[in-house]
Amino acid sequence: TRAAETAAWRGPGRTADGHAVAILANVADGVSARSAAQAPVEGVGLFRTELAFLDRAAEPTVAQQVELYREVIDAFPGRKVVIRTLDAGSDKPLKFVAHSDEPNPAMGVRGNRIVQTYPDIRNNQLDALAEAARDDGRATPWVMAPMIATVDEAREFAARVRERGLVPGVMIEVPSAAILADAILAEVDFVSIGTNDLTQYTMAADRMSPELAALTDPWQPAVLALIQRVGDAGRDQGKPVGVCGEAAADPLLACVLVGMGVTSLSSAPAASAAVGLKLGTVTMDQCRDAASAAIAATSPSQAREAVRAVLAGEV
Ligand code: PEP
Ligand code: MG
Repeated sequence: TRAAETAAWRGPGRTADGHAVAILANVADGVSARSAAQAPVEGVGLFRTELAFLDRAAEPTVAQQVELYREVIDAFPGRKVVIRTLDAGSDKPLKFVAHSDEPNPAMGVRGNRIVQTYPDIRNNQLDALAEAARDDGRATPWVMAPMIATVDEAREFAARVRERGLVPGVMIEVPSAAILADAILAEVDFVSIGTNDLTQYTMAADRMSPELAALTDPWQPAVLALIQRVGDAGRDQGKPVGVCGEAAADPLLACVLVGMGVTSLSSAPAASAAVGLKLGTVTMDQCRDAASAAIAATSPSQAREAVRAVLAGEV
């Protein structure tokens, strides 16, 4: 049965014709990282560091941060671990990063934008990440910034990360960053598409609003067109393009993303086996055809139907 096959899938992720697609986990702390290591995943594609600090009144010390980051890195020895700098603000307020009077926090001082007011918080975090990676032959973590909107932000972040010997990347979750993916990718070593926020901002629809669920659907053709743009930039420059939003947990959509040039898929670890199993049944050519069909659609439901038909060999 399908359920038994899913339970038995162990990875690594690859298409039926052997193209590697890393299946990674989203984690929040050491506990969730050790739990994710039991799932068939090849590493961590998104460590949401802010989630570990939601209940802190004060900024954690560098030493406390080092301990936390090592817990996550050491849950996946020798594997890829992508760590995101604090995405404070909006739906994830931190007590030590206060911007209380914002009328529209989702578009306010959140994510990497806190460097304007709190430069030391990001510097301390990067110091802690560099320290956590030192010693004991640990693999070098990849470090990415959330909510990057401009090429200048990407360049500035990359310089701070590189001077500490870490590997810099940025999230593509603001439409401006997807539109400028080529120029942004030229500044960093990798990008990771955050489809939750990319969908929210592309569709101008709050991701927390159940009433807007039809709009906050990553199958929206406008969102897919932006993802294709990022995938093309990655292919042109030979740099990794991940997806770390929940779109990566949808097996059908995963095939579309891979066809668009996405090289890794990171989501809640519970989804990894179903995604890996599905990818193993389709070729890269089918994924590319599925991507073209999805983008040509004019609605999410039409895109889903078209992709199902392509992958079933009906067209
Ligand atoms: C995203 O926006 O898709 C993402 C992965 O980041 P978060 O869900 O933490 O905002
Ligand atoms: Mg986000």
